[in-house]
Amino acid sequence: MKAVTEFFGCKVFDDRIMKATLSAEVYNSLRSTIDEGQDLDIGVANAVAIAMKDWAVQNGATHYTHWFQPMTGITAEKHDSFITPSPDGGVIMEFSGKELIRGEPDASSFPSGGLRATFEARGYTAWDPTSYAFIKGKTLCIPTAFCSYGGEALDKKTPLLRSMEALNRQALRILRLFGNTTVKCVRTSVGPEQEYFLVDKEMFDRRKDLVFTGRTLFGAKPPKGQEMDDHYFGVIKPRVSAYMEELNEELWKLGILAKTEHNEVAPAQHELAPIYTTTNVATDHNQLTMEIMQKVAAKHGLVCLLHEKPFAGVNGSGKHNNWSVSTDTGVNLLSPGETPYENAQFLLFLCAVIKAVDDYQDLLRIAVATAGNDHRLGANEAPPAVVSIFLGDELTAILKSIETGTPYSAAEKTEMKLGVNVLPNFTRDTTDRNRTSPFAFTGNKFEFRMLGSSNSIACANIMLNSAVAESLKIYADRLEGAEDFEGALQEMIRKTIKDHKRIIFNGNGYDDAWIKEATEQRGLLNYRTTADCLPHLLDKKNVDMLTSHGVYSEAELRSRCEITLENYCKTIMIEANTMVNMARREIAPAVEAYALEVAKTASLKKSVLEDIPLAYESELLKKLSGLTCRISAATDELEQCLLTVGQISDVTEQSAAIRDDLLAQMTKLRAACDEAETVTARKYWPFPTYGDLLFGVG
Ligand code: ADP
Ligand code: MG
Repeated sequence: MKAVTEFFGCKVFDDRIMKATLSAEVYNSLRSTIDEGQDLDIGVANAVAIAMKDWAVQNGATHYTHWFQPMTGITAEKHDSFITPSPDGGVIMEFSGKELIRGEPDASSFPSGGLRATFEARGYTAWDPTSYAFIKGKTLCIPTAFCSYGGEALDKKTPLLRSMEALNRQALRILRLFGNTTVKCVRTSVGPEQEYFLVDKEMFDRRKDLVFTGRTLFGAKPPKGQEMDDHYFGVIKPRVSAYMEELNEELWKLGILAKTEHNEVAPAQHELAPIYTTTNVATDHNQLTMEIMQKVAAKHGLVCLLHEKPFAGVNGSGKHNNWSVSTDTGVNLLSPGETPYENAQFLLFLCAVIKAVDDYQDLLRIAVATAGNDHRLGANEAPPAVVSIFLGDELTAILKSIETGTPYSAAEKTEMKLGVNVLPNFTRDTTDRNRTSPFAFTGNKFEFRMLGSSNSIACANIMLNSAVAESLKIYADRLEGAEDFEGALQEMIRKTIKDHKRIIFNGNGYDDAWIKEATEQRGLLNYRTTADCLPHLLDKKNVDMLTSHGVYSEAELRSRCEITLENYCKTIMIEANTMVNMARREIAPAVEAYALEVAKTASLKKSVLEDIPLAYESELLKKLSGLTCRISAATDELEQCLLTVGQISDVTEQSAAIRDDLLAQMTKLRAACDEAETVTARKYWPFPTYGDLLFGVG
């Protein structure tokens, strides 16, 4: 087998290939587009298109596609072949700069949340040269943004790029104030840790709930779950290890820096983490990673479940978004640094994040809101739906001393006054890692942990970048006009700490007492469900902030709100329909069949021996019949509720009814069915159980 260094990135039109195949002039021009956002000349685009096509054809590609991320949260592609007829009856392979830069997929079926009336169904895709093109199968994939004819973003990439630009603009203003004239560009980087489950494909196929909804809607607790904690970081089983090996190879070929892999807390649960990279590339890579995880699983007779909560009572899957801000000169602005001067700048960026997270708690919650993730946030393994920041003891103590104007006694006991030049040196926090915080500072980056495993990371980063850009803007506005820079800086840091310290919490985020304290004493938000939080996307403060930085227009925000709520409603209604179907056509008949066997046994026994004791059979029969009655009644009620809910036309009202009524009916039906599972003979049970699924992959 080839060494990784030899095949890494072999399917990517990356910098190495660009350098080798483009003229110096074209290469430099493209680089300045990539690095500095310079406009792209059509001549350059033509040259790049030809080089890209030649390289792709040499590597087996016959087609190309503009690869984009519509608001469904997954990726879309429409393949065109390179062939053009030649006069002699043959074909030549052609690809032009125009085709590279812009495409027009027939986009009328992608959700637009009212942004695009069907009569102007045309949407167009525009090349994002900052994310490398790559080959998937026989197709050259060109990462693109997707917009309506009127220029409204119909995707997740466009607002993400805008949010990165917003943060860049404001961070540069701050750096200039600190006397830095060399930095050209500030970017955010992300390393998303991806959790997932692997189950056996043959078992998966026998469960309609998994097939239709990606999660189990029924299933009694197995005799063994995750209570032993024997899976976490445990030895990886051979079948899983073969899967991971192939997955890594496929990812590496695509230039994705898959780095670590391990078993997670729940049985059958695993995690994959890449090395961090620029946010929009990390987002593209994460989408590709999720796709390839599923593809490779199929080759191994497995199914990769990316749902946030595939199994009740077992840990769900999330995605940890490790986020930092750095300059093109390689300085991480969230790194505490060695000198007091750097520390002051660090403290200002730290404060910007603290302020952003407190001011826009709602946007962060909204960014991760899906029907699936609602099961996780607030359950006892994931961060709660309440947003708070973990800073660790040392940073918290430093902030406290700044707030109160009292000396901070670090190890070397430097007395701290508040002047920039006498800020103390401090090092990476050495306290234990806190795994329960939704938003944790981990040395030189923040780890936002509320994302669900199937979420696109775009949304979380759009909100995070924008909110931090807003804090920085407020700071820059104030500092640029200040006569006494250092005095104003100190004052602002102190004020931020005072105003926003309520968001800092270093304790156990899973604790009920915390939720009480957070909501009752600190006034933090607790939006438990998607239906609760989503309407707040359109709160004035949020619309004002996001539009003022040019990240979203108001119309774009309305469309996102509508699409997300619609998605929530549809998802849960499909689940409810699936439950009705399974309960009526599989579960109730199975319980009845078993009851019949019990009845037959009793009757046969009695025909042999008149006074034989039949307590077991009669009790069981009573129980089984009672359960089928309960199942049948609950199925009817759920079906009725579905009808009622389905008639509500306003999506906000519908989502509230689903949250309040439909989910409760689903829980009721599930309870009856799960109880039936525990008393029905195994051979009658119509589909694999939790035990089968969770422990079935050897
Ligand atoms: P953990 O102990 O949580 O696994 P790691 O340091 O291994 O922490 O990092 C987890 C993820 O964070 C990886 O994807 C890693 O690449 C990413 N990461 C590390 N440093 C940074 C940084 N400065 N900015 C963004 N992500 C980072
Ligand atoms: Mg982590």
